[in-house]
Amino acid sequence: MNGFPKTVETLISEFTKFPGIGKKTAQRLAFHVLSSSTEKASRFASSIVDVKTLVRSCTICGGISDEDLCEICKNNKRDQTVICVVERQEDIFAIEKTNSFLGVYHVLGGILAPLDGIGPEKLNIQALENRLSSGMELILATSATIEGDATALYLQKIFNDKKVKITRLARGIPVGGELEYTDEATLLRALEGRTSF
Ligand code: ZN
Repeated sequence: MNGFPKTVETLISEFTKFPGIGKKTAQRLAFHVLSSSTEKASRFASSIVDVKTLVRSCTICGGISDEDLCEICKNNKRDQTVICVVERQEDIFAIEKTNSFLGVYHVLGGILAPLDGIGPEKLNIQALENRLSSGMELILATSATIEGDATALYLQKIFNDKKVKITRLARGIPVGGELEYTDEATLLRALEGRTSF
């Protein structure tokens, strides 16, 4: 339709599927690939395939890893008795950027959303329960949304009798805010000012 050869049109259309990439940017990227060396383009293509074939979930926390255990779970300098519970794998990196959290993580793989059919059984909750022992601290770092709050409340309820200290990130996070898009200073304040349930 634009007069592009079919192959170029396909590449453009693939780029438009990336978040934040409009048609114009997609065209620029496609022409960038066209003008790159074959070697560079192959490296790009195989790095995409590699993350899909080599990256897996850490068997302990559910975070991303190239091996069975992620770098954080493997690190014996991290405090295994403080577990920060997050919704998504990328949230780990948002908190890591603050350089202030020395505990470990647990990825829920989503939040409770009954209207979308996401109940507790769809989340990585059983594995979290298996990690708990008395005296631990659980920091609930789900988003400051209705669903995030509901999920935190649910976890607080079911783990209430586990003799663990349960805290929630302080309200520095803007309402409706996702961790990934929260700046480091705000996240740091929220982490330090966390409150007990
Ligand atoms: Zn891990």
